[in-house]
Amino acid sequence: MRLVIAQLKHETNTFSPVPTPLARFAHGTPAPLEGPAVREAFKGTGTAIGAFIDLAEQAGAEAVYPIAGNAAPSAPVDTAAYEFMAGRIVDAVAKGCDAVLLDLHGAMVTRAHDDGEGELLGRLRRIAPDIPIGVALDMHTNLFPAMGRLATVIAGYQTYPHVDMYETGLRAGKAILSKAKPVLAFGHRPMLPHVMRQSSLDSPNKEIQARAREMERQGALAASFFVGFPHADIPYAGSSAVVVTDGDAAKAQALCDELLDMAWKAREKFVYQVEPLEKSLLRAKEAGGSTSGRPVVLLDHYDNCASGGTMDTMAVLGAILDAGLEEAAAFAICDPQAVEQMKRAGVGARVTLPLGGKLDMPALKLKGKPRSVTGNVRRIVNGIYRNEGPMARGELADMGASAVLDTGKVEIAVISRHVEPHDIGSFRALGIEPEKKRYLMLKSRVHWRAGLGALARATVECAGEGVCTSDYSQLRFNRVRRPVYPLDPEARPSV
Ligand SMILES: [Zn+2]
Repeated sequence: MRLVIAQLKHETNTFSPVPTPLARFAHGTPAPLEGPAVREAFKGTGTAIGAFIDLAEQAGAEAVYPIAGNAAPSAPVDTAAYEFMAGRIVDAVAKGCDAVLLDLHGAMVTRAHDDGEGELLGRLRRIAPDIPIGVALDMHTNLFPAMGRLATVIAGYQTYPHVDMYETGLRAGKAILSKAKPVLAFGHRPMLPHVMRQSSLDSPNKEIQARAREMERQGALAASFFVGFPHADIPYAGSSAVVVTDGDAAKAQALCDELLDMAWKAREKFVYQVEPLEKSLLRAKEAGGSTSGRPVVLLDHYDNCASGGTMDTMAVLGAILDAGLEEAAAFAICDPQAVEQMKRAGVGARVTLPLGGKLDMPALKLKGKPRSVTGNVRRIVNGIYRNEGPMARGELADMGASAVLDTGKVEIAVISRHVEPHDIGSFRALGIEPEKKRYLMLKSRVHWRAGLGALARATVECAGEGVCTSDYSQLRFNRVRRPVYPLDPEARPSV
């Protein structure tokens, strides 16, 4: 048996000004990995492709690895990057194989295609119309009908924070490699859940994902509810579901509809209410007033680089500096120019530099606003570390050249490549001890809870500035299908 195993992951924020060239899909190397290097990098990691590798080896299959690319979310993918990576996968399948296992995100928009995954599957189907294709997808998939029609099996993450990537790979791969006859049903509801209300640790997604897992215990090969990724102005942004059964199409459709109905009934609970930043700072200050250990987390959720944020807006960090909060750390400002300046000054030097605000955000009609910050250069590192888990355990993370700027009150991590703080490794690599801080600013929305949630004494969600805004009125949706809830409160499912 010959398997083609590949990874091609990007969550596209069509409002993001951050470019998406080929290099963004690589970690610690100039370009994405190809061939045996893919197996070396991902064998033993808590990722979907890590599960595919294990399944192939357990089956005694010959496996080829044309490409593994995974870029932090950003603007639509450059055409050259997409063509290079999709081309590698198509070429490998064209040489002949018995099945294909793909670790995709499911919300990839390219400069030429609204549905990067559907486009890839379409190209594969033209050369291999009957080959089983198993796909692992992120819970933030924006599912176009082509994906549902062209894949043999789809399995999505059932956790957010995503701590079941490996298990998702197992579900997608086993359904393909077993003797089952997978039939797949998919569907949509016209809703755009707010990311800040999507965690599977909280209601209503907690119950929906629990029901999906129960469906699998009761015999479904894979049951997935996708919350969707709302920061994409494309027709199929928003919620969907896919259920795969062994040969029972009617059952698959009924279970799929059940998941969608659960989500639709709970649609009001997926709406996030924004609090003004001044009020959030006051609450944070109050919560941090006592001397007991463990930090108060100030969540700068409008500028999360794992949702396409520039990771360089200074609104929340500026408010923290203005409020005079002490014993604080901030992760992170992505500003390669500032890192260079600190490297030139050297460890121990006192510097004043314009921090952050290097990128404009035309979709929000916002100009980048650097802020002058003075501090001591505490540390300079190369920024490469391995995730300790539970999310993407063992996978290499690459912050690029990174430094710590210490104002005396706030230790600010300044990095050169986008990495969301969801793993203690990001702090350890910089010599910052978050558990000893009184305040911790994180540019994240939900994933920080995977590796850092247990540290928090309290969490204060701070509405700053950025292209991951939870205020939909700041975003111009021209192409998403309408009506859609909550943009159109009167939206109803089509029958
Ligand atoms: Zn996701």
